[in-house]
Amino acid sequence: MATVEDAFTRARRDAVQHMAACEKALFRWGEMAVSEIVMSRAAAAASVVPFTQPAESVSGADWVWWWVDSTSAYGMLVQAKRLTVHQDRWRFDFGYRGRACRQRVNLRSTAASLGLVPVYALYLGTADYRNWQMCSDDHRVGRCLSCVKRSVSLMPALLADPAVVNDYEETYKRSFALEEAWKPSSMPTQVIPALLEQMDPELINFLLTPQAGVRAVAQSMIDGILRVRSGQLDAVSRSDPSVLRGSNHDQLGPVFPDLPLDTGHWGFPYFEHVLDPLQHVPPDYVLEVESQEFDADELASTMPSQVAGVVVVRLSQNG
Ligand SMILES: [Zn+2]
Repeated sequence: MATVEDAFTRARRDAVQHMAACEKALFRWGEMAVSEIVMSRAAAAASVVPFTQPAESVSGADWVWWWVDSTSAYGMLVQAKRLTVHQDRWRFDFGYRGRACRQRVNLRSTAASLGLVPVYALYLGTADYRNWQMCSDDHRVGRCLSCVKRSVSLMPALLADPAVVNDYEETYKRSFALEEAWKPSSMPTQVIPALLEQMDPELINFLLTPQAGVRAVAQSMIDGILRVRSGQLDAVSRSDPSVLRGSNHDQLGPVFPDLPLDTGHWGFPYFEHVLDPLQHVPPDYVLEVESQEFDADELASTMPSQVAGVVVVRLSQNG
């Protein structure tokens, strides 16, 4: 079996090759084709279970992704969105208008019902298509590998606000390359001091120390949210200790049972939204998928209809 690293590098490389060929031939590449490339290549190192779908539901399909290692598991519901660049304006159809609206609402409600965090897989086209605009502090003029890796990125749905995510700066700030998801972050996490006062030492340690493996994936997600939260003017919500969830520190359930109840600009407790799906152990269906002891139709029947399949990526503990 290929390593996770190799499989995801190849997934991105082949996706970029497809997008480049389409751009050259003036084809508009679609999300479906890129998703097929990414997931079929990921399958060299991950367990990928596509469900048989009624044709009309495929275009808005969401995929369940679980990242698993020997310490924990983190679950996402992922929907693909492509970038359209027009002059300097970047645009994604996040579904705030028109037909995609139902897709957006379904992504959130389905993720909540399955105990997953809703995420967009952003397909950004080739770096040429994005004019090699500065991807990060590591950006290199000339041929920037970080720009190329960004062709397949992930963004928490919470941050997919089309009024703001309309240029390269906000898009890059709010997302990360899929193939970097489990790597320890080189950027320090920004946490508002008033929030730190509401956290137990374990959570502070998780946020402020670069993580590896599954915890790094969860950290990549909360990092972007806390970065955006630092820029919001809303006062930090006080957590009322009487509504804390009882410090249920057992070896099942969420890794961090007591989370700050701050709502920021979003109006609901975003820590729980992002970190509740970080669990000590994955649900049974994930273990069954990994051990190949499952029936795809039976598994599909337990999931909402727009779920197109399940991906399980097992990471080594050291990332
Ligand atoms: Zn770059």
